[in-house]
Order: sequence, then structure tokens, then C-alpha cells
Amino acid sequence: MQCDDVLPLIAGYLDGELSEAQSAPVRQHLLACPACRQVTQDQKALKSWFQPTAPVAAPEGFAARVARRAFQGDSGLLVPQAAPSAPAEEAGTLLRFAMNVTAVAAAALLVLSFTIQFGKQPASSTLRADSTNLERALQSLDRLNQEERADALRAEEAKGPAARSRTAEDEEEPR
Ligand SMILES: [Zn+2]
Repeated sequence: MQCDDVLPLIAGYLDGELSEAQSAPVRQHLLACPACRQVTQDQKALKSWFQPTAPVAAPEGFAARVARRAFQGDSGLLVPQAAPSAPAEEAGTLLRFAMNVTAVAAAALLVLSFTIQFGKQPASSTLRADSTNLERALQSLDRLNQEERADALRAEEAKGPAARSRTAEDEEEPR
């Protein structure tokens, strides 16, 4: 094998892409030829720049930790934690507080609207029963009022001529 035959095969040889039948003569040539050995060394050094020496694996639970920290408002910036995390945490609690207040206000509004609705429209059976009871009570009260008014009117009518005559009657009666 000549140098010109070996040089195009060196990359494949280093990548382990050659069969044993192909790589055996290349190995033989490299042992005998310092120039081709040098080229092989250079290519090997160049390749090491682009290949990790060890496969990189994420630590256990890495993705879950990243997701948790992202949801906690971590910007992911590689800066000292103390200074930037304090305002971020403050903003987080403030946002949480605002959301709680909003939720409470919404709940209160819902309850208030329901109360107003039920106040306007006595739709439930108990409310209807109450309203008929109330109506009956009002009617009886009205009747009592009318009777009382009638009594008062009768008394007034009776008093009218009687009152005028009462003094006379009073004066007359003892006699
Ligand atoms: Zn050679």
C-alpha cells in the first residue's frame, strides 16, 4: 500500500468504519511510514476537539428540578442567588397575594349576586311558602286594619253627634 492509497482511508480508519480486511493494511503502512503516522496523529487530535471524551448524561431528576425551578420563577441566570432572587421572590409572593385577593373577591361577588338573585326572585319552595304566609299575614293585618278603621269610623260617626250631644247628655244624664 502506498501513501496515496492510505491517506483517504485514515479518517475512516480512525472512526472505525473500515472492515478488518481494509484496516489491516492501513495499520501495517502506518507502522512503516512516519509521514502517514503523523497525518493520522493530527487527524486524531483534531477529532478529539469535536468528540466528547465521555458521553454526557443528565443527573438523576435533572429535568424535574429544572421544571420545578422554572415554575418557581427562577430565571436560570448564572448569577449570585442573593441579589436577584430577593426581588423575584417578592414579586412572586405579591403575585400570589394578588391572585388570592382576586379569587376571594370573585367568590364574594358570586355569593353577593346569588343573594341578590334569591332576594329578587323567591323561586324556591320554602321562599314561596314564606311569601304566601306573609301574604296571608298581610291580608289578615289588612282585614284587622279595615275592621279597626271601620270601628273607628263607626265610633267617629257615633261620636260626631254623640260628642256634640255628649256634653248635653252628660249634663242631661245625671238628671
Ligand atoms: Zn505513508
